[in-house]
Amino acid sequence: MSKVSSIAFIGLGNMGGPMAVNLAGAGFEVRAFDLSEDARKTAQNGGCRASLSLAEAVNGADAVVTMLPAGKHVQAVYGGEDGVFAHAKEGALFCDSSTIDVPTAREVAKQAASRGFAMVDCPVSGGVAAAEAGSLTFMVGGTDKDFARAEPVLEPMAKAVIHAGDAGAGQAAKICNNMLLGISMIGTCEAFVLAEKLGLDPQRFFDIAAKASGQNWSLTSYCPVPGPVAAAPSNRDYQPGFATAMMLKDLRLAQQAAQTSGANTPLGAQAQELYARFDENGGHDMDFSGIVRMLRGEFSD
Ligand code: NAD
Repeated sequence: MSKVSSIAFIGLGNMGGPMAVNLAGAGFEVRAFDLSEDARKTAQNGGCRASLSLAEAVNGADAVVTMLPAGKHVQAVYGGEDGVFAHAKEGALFCDSSTIDVPTAREVAKQAASRGFAMVDCPVSGGVAAAEAGSLTFMVGGTDKDFARAEPVLEPMAKAVIHAGDAGAGQAAKICNNMLLGISMIGTCEAFVLAEKLGLDPQRFFDIAAKASGQNWSLTSYCPVPGPVAAAPSNRDYQPGFATAMMLKDLRLAQQAAQTSGANTPLGAQAQELYARFDENGGHDMDFSGIVRMLRGEFSD
């Protein structure tokens, strides 16, 4: 299979915009398309070629990368009447980096394979800052052959590209990881709230828990109270970061998956309820670590 040199990038939002620019910076010819004209202009300023339609971007491209909000957008962009399947060149490679539900990821990959295309689902961990820095972690679902073709396309945007398994396995890894993150963040916040009530200094508690068995990423890399971790959103009034709305989306995907697969995830269910409450009570656009404020009783509901 020939080397990828031209890439159609569809979905130039907070994440997709900087990702497309990093691919252009790595020497790929990037044809960038988004419904938003502003997003297309920003990508053009970053070295991409702005396309006025999906068809124009996809026509003749060796690969297509998509970074869209949810499963329904991915279905429409690939399978729609005027979509990627209708315009892509024979044997093209598709990489969907959106975070979506596992059944949709599997269905779109199946449709792609039946038309002779190669496709991987490759959602990412790391927010806008990692998208800009080219240091995302990609969790990739697809055959060994498709993974090998996708790897060099994803590398300029990545600090790690990990093969999770067959089609849909990337999405499965992403929602399991983020369910764990949501639960661990709430646990970390509850520990700080209790420590405060017990008169413990937050910095002292941090110093101890960071070296004790309570240590976890939400504590030591993303501390939900201001002070201990300089880069954490808690030090900038909980500006995201990783917005609560996004965390809630991922927790809902995890609960859908738990229901359909029959997995028992009581803490995942509780985390979804708490984030839904926070989202409705002022947290929607706040970083997900801001839930410490709701747990402290700062918001009435
Ligand atoms: P966003 O809303 O900023 O960007 C989505 C873009 O897709 C928008 O610019 C929109 O105009 C475009 N779009 C929608 N439908 C389209 C269509 N039919 N054709 C062309 N463009 C279309 O979202 P985002 O923050 O960039 O997130 C994208 C995906 O990445 C989501 O699935 C999200 O869950 C996931 N994600 C986000 C983050 C984060 O921190 N923002 C982190 C990891 C993963």
